Amino acid sequence: TPLENIRNFSIVAHIDHGKSTLADRLIQSTKTVADRDMKEQMLDSMDIERERGITIKAQTVRINYTADDGQDYILNLIDTPGHVDFAYEVSRSMRAVEGSLLVVDSTQGVEAQTLANVYHAIDADHEIVPVLNKIDLPAADCDRVAEQIEDVIGIDASEAIRVSAKTGIGIKETLEAIVTRLPAPKGTLDAPLKAMLVDSWYDSYLGVIVLVRIMDGQLRKGDRVRMMQNGSVHHVDRIGVFRPAMTEIDVLGPGELGFLTASIKQVRDTRVGDTITHEKKGTDNALPGFKPSQPVVFCGLFPVDAAEFEDLRDSIEKLALNDASFSYEMETSAALGFGFRCGFLGLLHLEVIRDRIEREYDIDLITTAPSVIYDIHMKDGSVEQLHNPADMPDLTHVDHIEEPRIKATILVPDEYLGDVLKLCQDRRGIQENLTYAGSRAMVVYDLPLNEVVFDFYDRLKSVTKGYASFDYQMIGYRTDSLVKMSILVNDEPVDALSTMVHRDRAEMRGRAMVEKLKDLIPRHMFKIPIQAAIGGKVIARETLSAMRKDVTAKCYGGDATRKKKLLEKQKAGKKKMRQFGKVDIPQEAFISALKMD
Ligand code: GDP
Ligand code: MG
Repeated sequence: TPLENIRNFSIVAHIDHGKSTLADRLIQSTKTVADRDMKEQMLDSMDIERERGITIKAQTVRINYTADDGQDYILNLIDTPGHVDFAYEVSRSMRAVEGSLLVVDSTQGVEAQTLANVYHAIDADHEIVPVLNKIDLPAADCDRVAEQIEDVIGIDASEAIRVSAKTGIGIKETLEAIVTRLPAPKGTLDAPLKAMLVDSWYDSYLGVIVLVRIMDGQLRKGDRVRMMQNGSVHHVDRIGVFRPAMTEIDVLGPGELGFLTASIKQVRDTRVGDTITHEKKGTDNALPGFKPSQPVVFCGLFPVDAAEFEDLRDSIEKLALNDASFSYEMETSAALGFGFRCGFLGLLHLEVIRDRIEREYDIDLITTAPSVIYDIHMKDGSVEQLHNPADMPDLTHVDHIEEPRIKATILVPDEYLGDVLKLCQDRRGIQENLTYAGSRAMVVYDLPLNEVVFDFYDRLKSVTKGYASFDYQMIGYRTDSLVKMSILVNDEPVDALSTMVHRDRAEMRGRAMVEKLKDLIPRHMFKIPIQAAIGGKVIARETLSAMRKDVTAKCYGGDATRKKKLLEKQKAGKKKMRQFGKVDIPQEAFISALKMD
């Protein structure tokens, strides 16, 4: 296909503004997929993605379209993730295409992720076509939203397309705009092969599948190619495109997006952003690389039943094959036994992986408190990276501690602004900017990541009744007065409940935690003290009183089946608990104890 007849684009949007629905309509209206095979949200493939309505991995689809000018075009759509945790995936897939549809819900307007994602598109020099979606709804206000796009983002929205991805209004206009308003890709057919590695994932039948964008030259089945970063050479056994099902073809030329397989065993052997060229007569000029995405949130994953440790190892290894941004190493906890310390891109990423282990591998997990990475500057001048509060070195050797900070952008209707400012202030935030876009305020805060990873997003949603939107980026490390707080249950420290807290807030946090734990831990036959401590000093204490009677006592011994049932029920209830010394702590306590309200 000549370059002039190819268009590569992505769709950027805030979550729920209709990106997936629009992609579905584009696929359906061009008969890329037969109507009988059409299911909703074609591109969101994993179960969890479907259930949560989010896209995690970048997905792509090739659409054939005959335009009003009578010519046949190939349109390649990359559907990118819409959640903050995956901002890195958005930015890198943007580099593989020339234009974006900017979808904004015309009943809502510009939101924080609209901004974050459109900036990625602008960074990648995209031509941008604004699309006002959901015009079938009575609350649609296209003029206001178009004005807002111009004011807040600063791009021309006078020719925004008015669409209902639900009913199909404006779909034809959208396809025409892709052809007429987005640029064709550039590239040279008879130059040495230069292909960008856009994404890769593991497939149990085909091994690693590599998504590539051909910049120059041609890639054929049977070629021997070299990954320029590590020099490894591979024999290409398949190439093809997504329609969206994988369809093999013989050759991919400049400007095209497609996949290759080459008996690559692990996703880790492929580097996103790498340049692929031919082993012989290859190019010498690699594309500018990407920085790899680094895990920022860490937590421990332990099996509830210690006998399931090997199963857990197996599931984690399998998941890691397909997800290079998920890291893990073995961890032993005095309280929880053998498990893994795992690193994630953010909390959603953590939840997704945890859910998959529990559901797909059927393992009950204890998840310990999420933690960020602290830089511990020692008195001898060395720096240690602390991934787990339980490993905090002796304070006498520590000079100071630095913690990661983020720049958070929050868009919120006026009436909730006060609550949002208070929330950010409570989380040790420093206000950097406050502006207005219509009746919405846009605030920018510098916040410690540690105050955000846990339940910030939930709190923000709740204080604003769901009307605020939020996005963030890492901005670096800063020194603060941080200490490790330990929790003791029945005088035994429970390492999995240790957290890093700000000194000024330690007492309040400690109090809240012991009160929570008092409610979460069931009564035992004896009194249980629950304490929060810094170093050797107790800063908060509660006592869980002893249970008065055996629960079976009131069965009078007469009704044996009833007694048996009760005991079985108790046993089932215990299944999700772990013993710490003499005390059973339920699984959910490890997360719930940390939530602040
Ligand atoms: P995404 O998060 O951007 O991928 O959004 P989805 O495509 O999943 O859409 C979010 C919700 O909005 C779903 O319930 C869709 O059915 C609904 N939706 C999407 N487009 C339209 C539209 O044009 N009109 C109406 N009324 N609802 C829409
Ligand atoms: Mg979606």
